[in-house]
Amino acid sequence: MDTHASQETETGYAGPSARLAVEGRATVIAVANQKGGVGKTTTTVSLSAALAQGGARVLLIDLDPQGNASTGLDVRISSDEPSTYDAIVEGLPIAQAVRATAIDGLSVLPSSLELAGAEVELVQAMARERALARAVEPARAEHDVILIDCPPSLGLLTINAFVAADQLLVPIQCEYYALEGLTQLMRTVNLVEENLNPGLSIGSVVLTMYDARTRLAQQVVDEVHGFFQDRAYSTVIPRTVRLSEAPSYAQPITVFDPESRGAEAYLALAEEFATRLGIAAFDAKRATRVAKETKAAEIAAIEAAQDADKRTGDEA
Ligand code: ATP
Ligand code: MG
Repeated sequence: MDTHASQETETGYAGPSARLAVEGRATVIAVANQKGGVGKTTTTVSLSAALAQGGARVLLIDLDPQGNASTGLDVRISSDEPSTYDAIVEGLPIAQAVRATAIDGLSVLPSSLELAGAEVELVQAMARERALARAVEPARAEHDVILIDCPPSLGLLTINAFVAADQLLVPIQCEYYALEGLTQLMRTVNLVEENLNPGLSIGSVVLTMYDARTRLAQQVVDEVHGFFQDRAYSTVIPRTVRLSEAPSYAQPITVFDPESRGAEAYLALAEEFATRLGIAAFDAKRATRVAKETKAAEIAAIEAAQDADKRTGDEA
């Protein structure tokens, strides 16, 4: 399999990464794996949040009609509000559809179920594979990094992400058939690279849902690290209950529980990611501090509200 090893220098990613980071121009990363439920959305949301808490200006593009990345950041839109669909099918400038989130520096281009129709509607369109790339271009100037949460397929939406992106980040679940499907994914990346987006590669892979109690998980880590070498992040994301709970509170893990193992893992991943891609605006210490301060402020606000309630109760 061609993993673009030839692009690598002695320092691993320093070569390609340094080329990627251009001042005043965001790096665009598609978080993709056609296999469902491997942690794409969790990784996109958590990594985006950690990067923003560390001072980077981050745009998350929700390219999945399920809209889990949007709701995971507490961004819910009604069907008449602008979304990713309008940006890629109707040509609406992204800036008119982007929403702020509760995290400073993190905005999201929200998706809705309407996006499921885009896959069909785009088939008729001119330059149908380039619709997202065109929409994303103006947003590059305003951000340090743009992350695209892809749907679990290799259809036209995902192809659009591959054409818009500089690199892929592929989450791989620590499970028995971990590498299954990756040949097909690489074939698609190579086709896009040859025909539509020269230079595209699987930039990096990250292992998710690691369960230290099973021997299998360690075998998968060894196998994936053996295959991808330094393209695999050394940070491995553990399987934790807190990570699976965070979406139902509409908070990324670094806001929901910044001291949890899951948050620590995604903060470490953000540091590795920013170093590899040369995102100078990111400061790992700041990310950890901001995550903890945000939680402390939230708890203080809840306690103050409870005290106020109690006082009103006492007075009555
Ligand atoms: P889809 O292919 O449907 O878009 P996905 O690849 O985006 O799925 P996620 O939605 O991130 O995957 O994760 C699938 C499920 O596993 C979710 O319920 C999520 O909360 C949970 N999950 C993800 N990562 C972890 C983890 N490290 N520990 C525990 N649960 C996790
Ligand atoms: Mg998803």
